[in-house]
Amino acid sequence: MPFITVVPSLRTVPGVESFDYAVDAESDLSVGDLILVPFRQRQTAALIVSLSETSTVAAKAIKLKNPARLLRLGPVAIELLRRLSAWTFSSQPSILHAWLRKVPKRAKEPIYALPPSGQITLAFNTRETRFLSDLRHGGTGLVKTAKQLSGRTLILSPWKRSAGILAEELKCPILHSDIADGEAWRLLSGFVAGSIPCLVATKVGAWLACFAEHVLIEEPENDDFKQDEMAPRFDARWIVDETYRLRRGLSVIEFSLTPRLTSQPSAAAPSIRLEPRFENLSRRGRTEIEPLMAATLFRIEEAVSRRRPVLIIHPPRGERGRYICANCGWQAVCQACGYSLTQYKTHGLCRKCGRKNPLPAACPNCQGTDFSRGVLGQEKLKEQLARLPYAKDIQVWNLTQTAELPFPPESLVVLTNAAYLSGAAEDIRRRERLVIAWRRLAAKAEAAKSDLIVQAQEEILPVLRETLKAEGLAKEQAREFQERQVFGFPPAEVLVKLLIDGPEAKASSILAELGKSLPLGWTFTGPYLVPHRATARGNRFIILIKAPADTHPTRLVHVFKKYQDKAFIDIDPVAFFC
Ligand SMILES: [Zn+2]
Ligand SMILES: [Zn+2]
Repeated sequence: MPFITVVPSLRTVPGVESFDYAVDAESDLSVGDLILVPFRQRQTAALIVSLSETSTVAAKAIKLKNPARLLRLGPVAIELLRRLSAWTFSSQPSILHAWLRKVPKRAKEPIYALPPSGQITLAFNTRETRFLSDLRHGGTGLVKTAKQLSGRTLILSPWKRSAGILAEELKCPILHSDIADGEAWRLLSGFVAGSIPCLVATKVGAWLACFAEHVLIEEPENDDFKQDEMAPRFDARWIVDETYRLRRGLSVIEFSLTPRLTSQPSAAAPSIRLEPRFENLSRRGRTEIEPLMAATLFRIEEAVSRRRPVLIIHPPRGERGRYICANCGWQAVCQACGYSLTQYKTHGLCRKCGRKNPLPAACPNCQGTDFSRGVLGQEKLKEQLARLPYAKDIQVWNLTQTAELPFPPESLVVLTNAAYLSGAAEDIRRRERLVIAWRRLAAKAEAAKSDLIVQAQEEILPVLRETLKAEGLAKEQAREFQERQVFGFPPAEVLVKLLIDGPEAKASSILAELGKSLPLGWTFTGPYLVPHRATARGNRFIILIKAPADTHPTRLVHVFKKYQDKAFIDIDPVAFFC
C-alpha cells in the first residue's frame, strides 16, 4: 500500500514537520497537491510533500479514502516552504498556516489548478530595479508597467492603504492581513488557479510569487515588508529573492526611490527636484500654535488665502507626547511596563503595551502642576489650530497617513519636525531610515506639485539638504556604510539576533554555549534586557552575534539550528540597536 507524507496547515513547534497517511494504490494524488486530511478529529488542509511505497509508521497510518483536493501548489511552493522554514527557524506547518490562513472545511468544488510550469511563457528569469522619483499616483511607473504586462502578475506593496490605491488604479483585488479568511482563500486560490490574473498584496501574499509570471515590488527599500513582531518572522523581499532562484520564467521588477545600503553606493538613484523650505526649529520664533515657527505660520496663512489645501504632518499622539513635570522633570510611566505615557484628556496611554493609566493632577515628586513641557500631541495641536479663523482648511496627519496616502494636489505640506520621520526607537539605523522617509516625503510632495516646509533641528538640516540629490545621497550612503564597517553592523557584517524569554540565567547559559561553539572570528554581545515589557509577559533578553559579511546563508542556518528550541532566531533583523 502506498503512502503520502504531508505538511499540515497548523501551528507546530520546529521539529514537528510532517505526517504519513496511507492511500489507495490507484490514487492519482501527486506531490504538491493541497488536500484535506483527518487530523485529531478535524479536517485539516495539508500539502503532499512526497509519495512512497513504505512508511516508518505504516502500522499506525490512517487510510485516506478519496481525500478532497483543494489546490495544486506544485513543487516550487514545497521547496520555498522548506527554505523559508529553515531560514526563519519556524516549522513548515506553521508557515503553511501563515500562508493559507483558514481553509474552508469542505471544498465545494475542487479548485484544481494546472501545474504552474504549464503556463510559463518566459524561458529565462529577468530582474531589474527601476529608480523613479515619482513612485505612484498619476499612473507612472508601477501602474503603467502592470497594465502593459500579460500573464499572472503579483504586485507587492509595503502598506495596506497604498496597496489599496494600486488595486483601485489597476482594478484588481487586494490581499492583506485584515481581510476575512474566506475572502483571503478566494483570492489566493483564484490566483494559484489562474482565474485571478492580477493581485495586489502586502507581505502576507509574497509567497504567491511561486505562481506568478511577474512580480512588481513597490518601494523595496521599505522595512515594512518584514514581519518583525509575529512568528514566523519573514521578509517578503527574501521570499521573492528565493522564489526567483527556484522558478523558471519569473520576471521581477522593483520600483524604488532610494537604493538599499550596500558597499557600493548606487549612482542610479533619482534626484528629487523639489526645493523645500527649511525652518530651523529654535525656542525663539515660536507662535501661539506651539509646534509652528512664525515663518511657517505666515506661509500657512498665505496658502489659505489662496485657497490651497494645507496639510500639517505632526505624529505625536494625544495631548502631550509625554507627561513631564516642568518643575522637576518627573515623568509619568506605564505601571505595567515602565514606558513613558502619552497624555489624553482623562488618562495616560502606553504606546508600548496599550494599557490605560491614571494621571496625577500634581507631580508626586514636587507637587508641581505644570505639565506643559512634554511634546505637544495631535489632539492639542488641533485644539490650538481651532483658534485660527481658517482652522477648517487645515488637515493634520500622522506618519501612517503620510506614508500611505497621496498628498492633496498643489497643497502646502508642513512637517513640524523632521526628526519624527525616523521613528521613535534609538537605533543605529535611525539616520538611514530618516533619509529613506525624507526622500519619499519630498518625492510625494513633488508628485502632487505641492510646496513643502520642513522644520528641523539645526544638526539634521545638512543631511536633509544634501540627500534629495543623487550625488548627495551617494555621499551620505558611503559615509553610512563606512560607519557600519567601523562598528561592525549590516550590511558590513552579518548580524544575528537571539531573543530569549525567561530568567537571565537562561540567557547567560546560552551565551556560555555560544562562546564554546561559534566559529572562529564570530563575536557576540549581551544579554541585553529588553526594556518596557509588560510585567505579565516576563523578561526577554537579546544576544547579538556578528559574523563576516560573506558568511554563506546555509552556514548561518546550520550554526544556529541547535538554539531554535531555546530562542527566537532572527538572521536578518531590520532593527538593531547600538
Ligand atoms: Zn515635579
Ligand atoms: Zn505599558
